[in-house]
Amino acid sequence: MLSIQQQSQRQTDDRLEANERSYDDTRIALDQHSYATITRSWRLPRPPLVDEQSRFIWPYIVGVPLFHLAILAAYLPYVFSWWGIAWLPIGNLLFCSLGIGAGYHRLLTHRGFKCPLWFEHFLALLGACNLQESPARWVVVHRLHHQHSDHEPDPHTPLVSWFWGHVGWLFIENRGTTSAESYHKYAGDILSDPFYMRLERNLNYFWVYVVQAALFLTAGLIAGVFLTGTAAGGLQLGVRFLLWGVIYRTIFTWHVTWGVNSAAHLWGYRNYDTRENSRNNWLIALGTNGEGWHNNHHADPRSAAHGHRWWELDVTYAMICLWERLGLVWDVVRPTESLPKRRKTSP
Ligand SMILES: [Zn+2]
Ligand SMILES: [Zn+2]
Repeated sequence: MLSIQQQSQRQTDDRLEANERSYDDTRIALDQHSYATITRSWRLPRPPLVDEQSRFIWPYIVGVPLFHLAILAAYLPYVFSWWGIAWLPIGNLLFCSLGIGAGYHRLLTHRGFKCPLWFEHFLALLGACNLQESPARWVVVHRLHHQHSDHEPDPHTPLVSWFWGHVGWLFIENRGTTSAESYHKYAGDILSDPFYMRLERNLNYFWVYVVQAALFLTAGLIAGVFLTGTAAGGLQLGVRFLLWGVIYRTIFTWHVTWGVNSAAHLWGYRNYDTRENSRNNWLIALGTNGEGWHNNHHADPRSAAHGHRWWELDVTYAMICLWERLGLVWDVVRPTESLPKRRKTSP
């Protein structure tokens, strides 16, 4: 008689084995056809370690809708601000493109350039200001994505559904990304640095986000009192700084970053014949300052440049080149010259 744990382990093993078979079938299909034609009707199940044992991630299930509800306040004259709207792409560049695009992604995940440790940590802290998990966790999920892109263990392929690829995958535990084994396998190099271990402990990466929110609020309060001479004026600017400076900026950066996982694996053109459905999506590329040239990125993951054609604007890479000129970073990885150019096909 098998214990419940043994039964559940056997079910998981069966599922993993079935997944391996499905993965092989997919690879055989890919060998015979262009991926672009297959994926129009291709559908995948959720990752194998998202199952009946998986916990719901309530902080996301509750937090994401709550953040979006806060958008309603933007319509109040007390909160509405043209300056706030103008700030969103600037804040997105400063916090998300530098912190997530250059920091979490091109540096920590792919080691596309080298820099002093203090600068790496600075970029990682900027990344933590976007409420997209800790550096180590982000790296685990993204390296797993590259290893199994658009195949069943991919944590956020939109071939499950667009909603799953965009945000749904955050709402339920995937033991393929949360187990100690996965951290060891995919982010062992990151966690060998005590700085990143400290961010993991006691939700410290989350408190980084809270502290920056408090700093925005305080800066608004002080500036408001200084500009209007009244406490009420200070409070109003404080609220605006908090909402536009942090909350609305976070929502903006969430959707453009999530769009890389969802839209840039569904819609856009392909420069390269990669073995998944990655796309170069100009709208996401604009929103993320370069991350949306995602087919280029899958073709050459280590390259710090995601725009490979002259018109594929990659502001994040431009920033990295500027840092290189200033002597702040070095050994910047350029696109591999031997990259096989993809036959021109329809998107
Ligand atoms: Zn991808
Ligand atoms: Zn990547």
